[in-house]
Amino acid sequence: MTGTVLHLPHALLPEGWARNVRVTVRDGVIAAVVADAPPEGERLAGIAVPALPNLHSHAFQRGLAGLSERRGAGDDDFWVWRETMYRFLGVLSPEDAEAIATFAYMEMLEGGFGGVAEFHYLHHDPAGGPYADPAEMAGRMAAAAATAGIGLTLLPCLYTHGNFAAAPPGAGQRRFINGTDAFLDLLDRCRAIVAGLPGAALGVAPHSLRAVGPDQLAALLAAFPAGPVHIHAAEQQREVADCLAATGQRPVEFLLAHAPVDARWCLVHATHMTAAETRSLAASGAVAGLCPMTEASLGDGIFPAPGFLAAGGRFGVGTDSNIALDAAVELRQLEFAQRLGTLRRNVLAAPGASCGRALLEGALAGGARASGRQTGAIAPGQRADIVLLDPDHPDLAGRTGDAWLDGWIFIAGRAAVREVRIGGAAMVREGRHVRRDAIRARYARTMARVLAAL
Ligand SMILES: [Zn+2]
Repeated sequence: MTGTVLHLPHALLPEGWARNVRVTVRDGVIAAVVADAPPEGERLAGIAVPALPNLHSHAFQRGLAGLSERRGAGDDDFWVWRETMYRFLGVLSPEDAEAIATFAYMEMLEGGFGGVAEFHYLHHDPAGGPYADPAEMAGRMAAAAATAGIGLTLLPCLYTHGNFAAAPPGAGQRRFINGTDAFLDLLDRCRAIVAGLPGAALGVAPHSLRAVGPDQLAALLAAFPAGPVHIHAAEQQREVADCLAATGQRPVEFLLAHAPVDARWCLVHATHMTAAETRSLAASGAVAGLCPMTEASLGDGIFPAPGFLAAGGRFGVGTDSNIALDAAVELRQLEFAQRLGTLRRNVLAAPGASCGRALLEGALAGGARASGRQTGAIAPGQRADIVLLDPDHPDLAGRTGDAWLDGWIFIAGRAAVREVRIGGAAMVREGRHVRRDAIRARYARTMARVLAAL
């Protein structure tokens, strides 16, 4: 057992802002928190806030960022982007995927995230054949998380069909496809992988109602009775129309009617909902997994946040396609999309409250729940995953309390992230990941090869 004592001059605790906070850490977990304590142990500089759990990532897509910004001959939309994504993953080896994921996870830490829920669907080789180890690619994601030092929730993804009504997969989907039995073998392998990674958790990810039918979903849930369940739902209007045509119900409506959706579920995006779906999803206790930068990038639409929050709904944020690995930017975009949609300001805050604080605390609670890990608060029993903001950054200097959060989230972004502790260990110092040079050099070599092969 290894123990350490950290002294935080300012910290955001569950009960609010505190000064001179002594945090005792044992084996990566917070054993005790005492405010107004005399300096003792390692004295950290900065404003301590809980590191944000990133509840939705497809790590390999970091390498695709910026490669789909040229308009084709006709209308461009999510489905055109998806074809570009399929071409990109068609050239990725396991080594490539690991190098890209390591770089993405490093950037997440530098951007103020402390954990990542990896929604992992890239299982097979480029021809669709299984690797000798069916968990080859999942193991690469775990290795990337270990190298970067980020907390991992591994979400192996079940993908059985190409579209609704059990349509066969297209060529671009061959790397994703498993039958239920093969998937349950993969799940067992993933359980062993996660057991070897401190603080990691295992969940499952039926990809979407496009890719998984009701029978497969029921079999999956029977085999995985506890732990996080993540599913993409209602990201695109065409998906809603296809679901209506195939089932007579909309995606969120169908899930709520046919699956035991509760607090262990995370519905990723949930963009296109009726008012009744919005209220019912909130009442289920499930987390809405919002990916604001990706949803803006892909032209998905705007999540109905006011109705969802009014009904007591919980949300977290994810980076999804990984075009922006910055916790502040995702929270800012979440709020800004609401402003564009409602023609109001500070939509996610209660009257009189700081919007930055409301965004951060909402996403911490929902992100922790969706990740299935003990993280998201500076409190006993939680992982010691802590971000230290730079009090001397021009957008934070001279401010205090919630105004620090508003300066970080709405203005400074990752430039204000000075240090990140994961399980108490420093993974980012002075804004730089401790292994940045090696991880970046490997990523650059990998991308040179991948881009040449495209
Ligand atoms: Zn996704």
